[in-house]
Amino acid sequence: MADLSQPFDVLVIGAGNAALCAAITASQEGARVLIIEWAPREFRGGNSRHTRNIRYAHAEATDYVTGPYSVDEYWEDLLRVTAGRTNEALARMVLEMSERVPEWMMRQGVRFQPPLTGTLGLARTNAFFFGGGKTMMNALFAKTEELGAEILYDAQVTGLEIEGGCCKSVSVSVDGETHRVSARAIVVASGGFEANIEWLKEGWGEAAENFLIRGTPYNTGGPLRILLDNGARPVSDADQCHAVPIDARSPKFDGGIATRVDCVIYSIVVNKNAVRFHDEGEDIWPKRYAIWGRLVARQPGQIAYAIIDAKSQGLFMPTIYPAIEADTIRELAEKLELDADVLGKTVKDFNAGVQPGEFDAAQPDGCHTQGVDPPKTNWARKLDTPPYYGYPLRPGITFTYLGVEVDETARVLFGARKKPADNIFAAGELMAGNILGQGYVGGLGLLIGNVFGRIAGEEAARRAAN
Ligand SMILES: Cc1cc2nc3c(=O)[nH]c(=O)nc-3n(C[C@H](O)[C@H](O)[C@H](O)COP(=O)(O)OP(=O)(O)OC[C@H]3O[C@@H](n4cnc5c(N)ncnc54)[C@H](O)[C@@H]3O)c2cc1C
Repeated sequence: MADLSQPFDVLVIGAGNAALCAAITASQEGARVLIIEWAPREFRGGNSRHTRNIRYAHAEATDYVTGPYSVDEYWEDLLRVTAGRTNEALARMVLEMSERVPEWMMRQGVRFQPPLTGTLGLARTNAFFFGGGKTMMNALFAKTEELGAEILYDAQVTGLEIEGGCCKSVSVSVDGETHRVSARAIVVASGGFEANIEWLKEGWGEAAENFLIRGTPYNTGGPLRILLDNGARPVSDADQCHAVPIDARSPKFDGGIATRVDCVIYSIVVNKNAVRFHDEGEDIWPKRYAIWGRLVARQPGQIAYAIIDAKSQGLFMPTIYPAIEADTIRELAEKLELDADVLGKTVKDFNAGVQPGEFDAAQPDGCHTQGVDPPKTNWARKLDTPPYYGYPLRPGITFTYLGVEVDETARVLFGARKKPADNIFAAGELMAGNILGQGYVGGLGLLIGNVFGRIAGEEAARRAAN
């Protein structure tokens, strides 16, 4: 174990993408770095190990993306999904810096793969990691270790001694013993609080009990809470998060990417009362998957069921859990424990409303319903070809947005006067709400962590040297 009695130059809390970007940069600047990670080594990498791709601006197609994606288009996408809830100066800085991010990652040993096709259709805008997020993180860990940064696993940060925006020491619990570690600067990169159901209840009430958490159980927001309690300025709100529909049979934590259910646009989705509640065919799935977690979260019991017939099998990414299958809608209702009469009526009314049209699975096809509430505006086809399939859905929380406000040097801002901290920097999910007040564009989470992680690492090393 690292000698915790001596002060470090830079202490980094967490060992996800943002933390390692900070640690690598600070080490490259000559700082002596300690990383404190709550998870055991075999579960290292936080939510970052579940990722697949990063969105970045680029002028033309490359080996990894199929076409250009300008900073302006990226900005328009961000503005649309956040409805303006973003700090424009910080967001533009991130998007502009994004152009060089894959190159930086490759220099640290990360590998990308040729563009993929698939339901999320991100091949033009996002570069995918060869081997996925875990391999990407292993490359960053290898680089971190090569540079001499020390990593302490199974170590939970339980306290920060903060005076006038200056962190004097960090309390770290290891094997039931608390150590006070001092460092000239700290980078807090301990993720959001999505694994803290009690905290989620502040935004969602009791409904949060029924949420499933797609990522690490260690992101319970301890260091975030300590910063807020010490006067750091909050950004975004307790109920703002990225949430997608995942299979209700998934584990409570860490199910990762494989638990997502992508058939919604080809389905009808009913709640536990067996009635529909939202237009399933509003737009292509990449533009809608992130609203469906929240939609399901607002339904009674936080559960819903996507129902398709034989015609739609094979049109979407295979699911990790098999569909619940039946030869009739009545039998399916019984298997899903739904009221068979009500589900029968829902399907009959829906089928009666389906208008003739040319079905096209790949793009909005205008196949719609009439006289059905809510309408289905694309991919509306009668459910009439057995077998019928049902997937139970629950909200899968990816990460939360409530965080701490930072400036362009990644310094945490304190109090009504927005006083920049002396030696406290933040990166990643913990401050993503500065850019993402609401909404999401796929591949932005890692980008925010990369850009702010590197800024935080550089600034923290500079602060430590002075
Ligand atoms: C299933 C899934 C798929 C995703 N796919 C993508 C994608 O393809 N592209 C993308 O850009 N984003 C994706 N995201 C979002 C992305 O994972 C996050 O935005 C990003 O990884 C956050 O990085 P981070 O470093 O801030 O946090 P994390 O990677 O979660 O790291 C935080 C670390 O802090 C540690 N920690 C927490 N509390 C403490 C404490 N008290 N003491 C010490 N350590 C502590 C945790 O153990 C964890 O290791 C996905 C998320 C999930 C869950």
